[in-house]
Amino acid sequence: MSSSNMGTCAACKLKHPINDLAAHVAACERRLKGDADSLQIVVGSPEFPEFWMSVEAQSQATLEALDRFLRKAWLECCGHLSAFTIGKQRYESYLGDFEYGEKRPLGMKRKLAELVKPRSKFSYEYDFGSTTELVLQVVGRLQCKPSRKAIQLLALNDPPQRICEETEECENSATGLCAYCSAMPICADCLRTHDCGEEAICPIVNSPRAGVCGYEGPTIKV
Ligand SMILES: [Zn+2]
Ligand SMILES: [Zn+2]
Ligand SMILES: [Zn+2]
Ligand SMILES: [Zn+2]
Repeated sequence: MSSSNMGTCAACKLKHPINDLAAHVAACERRLKGDADSLQIVVGSPEFPEFWMSVEAQSQATLEALDRFLRKAWLECCGHLSAFTIGKQRYESYLGDFEYGEKRPLGMKRKLAELVKPRSKFSYEYDFGSTTELVLQVVGRLQCKPSRKAIQLLALNDPPQRICEETEECENSATGLCAYCSAMPICADCLRTHDCGEEAICPIVNSPRAGVCGYEGPTIKV
């Protein structure tokens, strides 16, 4: 799999290597600033490191708001359950159906700023079956203009180039991902002789959930 490892700042639209983007965002002249405290949180995929984003969480941001944002940006296919793990505590999106005596997880009403601080690392799972796992790190504090949007996108990785993996020889750009073959990238030529059928082919979208459970792509953009 090849990857550009570049990303774009949402405020100034300049491209930077992903490794420098969090620092760029903190210093970016075009980013809206104000006198309210916020946190810069970097989100990545341990399985697919080419996917990366930076978000700003205002002081009123709850886990629920971050969950909603991550779903729109990278994950939502059919309303699966999700959970954050911060330290030893789990916070789940749905709190119904518990066995008597079972330890009840907490919900997502808590405010992020009460649970994490700069350098905190935590994790997130979407869909407890075909799970997409994300890791999050608070990289620092920012000053923001208070807004109704508790979570805002600061920067996002550029879409990675995907090369067909149907055969060793094929070097064509992939046009889809086969969901039945573990989200394998495949080109239009190879697709003609691939056995899984049209219904198995998912679009290549800019998300670590591409090719999983019929995921169709983000509903927000940089
Ligand atoms: Zn910028
Ligand atoms: Zn699904
Ligand atoms: Zn297949
Ligand atoms: Zn091919």
